[in-house]
Amino acid sequence: MTVFCLGSINIDHVYRLPALPQAGETLSASSHTPGLGGKGVNQSVAALRAGAKVVHIGAVGRGDAWIEAQLTAHGIALDRIARVRQGTGHAIVAVDDAGENQIIIHPGANQAQDLAMIDAALATAKPGDCLLVQNETSHQVEAARIARARGLRVFYSAAPFAPDPLRAILPHVTHLLVNAGEAAALVKSTGTALPDQPVEAVIVTRGAQGAEWISAGTEPLFQPSFPVTPVDTTGAGDCFAGSLAAALDRGATPAQALRYAAAAAALQVTQPGAAPAMPDRAKVEQLLA
Ligand code: ATP
Repeated sequence: MTVFCLGSINIDHVYRLPALPQAGETLSASSHTPGLGGKGVNQSVAALRAGAKVVHIGAVGRGDAWIEAQLTAHGIALDRIARVRQGTGHAIVAVDDAGENQIIIHPGANQAQDLAMIDAALATAKPGDCLLVQNETSHQVEAARIARARGLRVFYSAAPFAPDPLRAILPHVTHLLVNAGEAAALVKSTGTALPDQPVEAVIVTRGAQGAEWISAGTEPLFQPSFPVTPVDTTGAGDCFAGSLAAALDRGATPAQALRYAAAAAALQVTQPGAAPAMPDRAKVEQLLA
């Protein structure tokens, strides 16, 4: 089976600073490291390293050789990546000595997806394949609608959380993924942890505290987190989402998939960076053994 992902592709510019800047303040960074990021591509790399066949659908700035080389180096094929007039999306990430961060995202090409390319990519999908979507691109609702009509499972990470995009996409979603903050925002905007649309499952991740799988009519599943010493938790949720989809795609039960995703995400937080920190399946299986 195949895991499709319509998702953001960013250049993460990570700046190290002794402290985060206050309003009106100018600070000099001690280092600058550019890296591959974006929730979508993080999820694709996680699914790939979990052993899934992955088709990433996205958009980057025309002529951006750096991002294309990064995608290739991470195993992401370029044939479903549109090259558009808008520049590649980027994030300015300031990290202080305590590991706190401040992030500014400029979506750029991520908001200029090519609907014809999305449609053409999903035309190759088979019933039972998966589509991963997050709230960082244009055409997410159209993609989810097309995917559901073709019999795919649709996983939606409601991040960054916004009630209107969530309401628009929910009728086409089978698996809704939220972290603790997003789950609280969901309850605040809808009054319940389970949305009124009939999704198959809501998966809530709660950092070091574990993750839940909630389905109507069955007992919720709880998966404790694996105890590790985290170095950098950027991309933990994306690692969890991509790994969960890859595990379900190869026929794991919800409980097995939760356990696999929790182990993968635990390993991911022990490494710096987002996409580059996604663990290979062999390492995850070692932790699970
Ligand atoms: P991020 O925004 O940093 O990408 P998130 O807020 O979307 O992450 P979390 O709920 O923080 O997602 O983490 C996702 C999963 O990663 C958790 O369910 C857990 O399995 C794993 N995880 C995160 N932090 C830790 C930790 N400190 N120790 C072990 N596992 C962790």
